Amino acid sequence: VKNASGDSQTITAKYLVGCDGAKSAVRHALDFTFEGNTIDALFYVADVEMEFSESHDAIYVTFGADSFVAFFPMQGENKWRIIGNLPEEMKRDENEIDYGEIENKIRSETQLPLHIKGVKWFSVYRVHSRRVDKFRDGRCFLAGDAAHIHTPAGGQGMNTGIQDAYNLAWKMACVLRGDAAEQILDTYNEERLPNAERLLGTTDRMFNLAAGSDWLFGLIRTTVFPPLAKYILSFDVVKERFFPLISQIGINYRDGSLSEHAGDREFAVKAGDRLPYFLVDGKSIYDKLREPKFHLLTFSDGTSDDHTMTGEVESANAHLVDHHVVPLYPQVTELFGTDQPFHVLLRPDNYIGFISPETSLSRLKIYLKEVIGHS
Ligand SMILES: Cc1cc2nc3c(=O)[nH]c(=O)nc-3n(C[C@H](O)[C@H](O)[C@H](O)COP(=O)(O)OP(=O)(O)OC[C@H]3O[C@@H](n4cnc5c(N)ncnc54)[C@H](O)[C@@H]3O)c2cc1C
Repeated sequence: VKNASGDSQTITAKYLVGCDGAKSAVRHALDFTFEGNTIDALFYVADVEMEFSESHDAIYVTFGADSFVAFFPMQGENKWRIIGNLPEEMKRDENEIDYGEIENKIRSETQLPLHIKGVKWFSVYRVHSRRVDKFRDGRCFLAGDAAHIHTPAGGQGMNTGIQDAYNLAWKMACVLRGDAAEQILDTYNEERLPNAERLLGTTDRMFNLAAGSDWLFGLIRTTVFPPLAKYILSFDVVKERFFPLISQIGINYRDGSLSEHAGDREFAVKAGDRLPYFLVDGKSIYDKLREPKFHLLTFSDGTSDDHTMTGEVESANAHLVDHHVVPLYPQVTELFGTDQPFHVLLRPDNYIGFISPETSLSRLKIYLKEVIGHS
């Protein structure tokens, strides 16, 4: 490794994770494929201070035949992020476009009464849609843009990279500590590659609808959408459909080998799902799940000796599993579809390993031994 001052250092490690971005030197050195395409258009993003007659709690989009401009409210008064694409006649090298040209384009295309008072930051970039066909080769792994890049539709790149890293980190930590068999590292590719595949498909479709050159999409943009489409952030449809997609909390690993389905048939939530959000004593359940460990949750009606169980769980594997007792609140029974006591085992990334009406510790022991490879 060559550091910033030019000195070289040799690092010997059991594993290597290439988190080195779209041009990943690690990916090139490993000779991974990076199939896909580069879209022949230029895009811009600009963070501006802008006086705008519309309210600051919605996303606004205007569509032209081959272009779009979208306004996203940002934190702070009059702060907006504007993204869009540049038309054919402005196609040049990314570095040759100055901000003035972009602002003129925003004004002429949107025809809106907006007053841009200043720009904090802007960037012009090309869009690629590519991915590797595997995330792992032996002791080497890829994560983030090194493994997948896609159109900016939906702003998914950073979130996906963080989730890749989160997915891999806990598995690698378990293996290095001797708490899991090395095979668990195969589940990184098993869980994250299909996600990258899906992501490229979704973002390509969203992108084509917003800015694709296909005549049909152009027709939809100019005839179906109103001149200024307003997408209010509090709409129920946004919360129910768009939010799980964009926030990525809708991703599940139900088909993965770490999802043990034996006990989940009668539940609305399944092994492989992310733990649904609910409140415990007015606070997010996630506040209790910050330790980088497995979490055994006992959803209790108060009739069993839950505290003895906490002692048993934590005395055997305190560094690996903690135990939480959660009353069967109405919100919980509604989410999970049962009012009877049950157990949920969460992996350190808060995805469900198993869910079971059986509330003894035998299922936990079997899961750790047979699924994780804990000896
Ligand atoms: C204009 C634009 C807007 C975007 N908006 C959003 C958004 O709203 N939401 C979102 O989720 N995503 C967004 N993204 C995507 C997001 O920025 C990326 O997906 C994310 O930064 C990828 O993170 P990463 O750590 O994988 O790679 P990077 O952020 O590229 O980080 C890689 C790091 O590795 C370093 N590196 C590379 N090679 C070497 C080497 N040989 N030696 C040492 N260091 C090296 C680089 O210097 C860099 O610091 C946007 C991207 C662009 C271009």
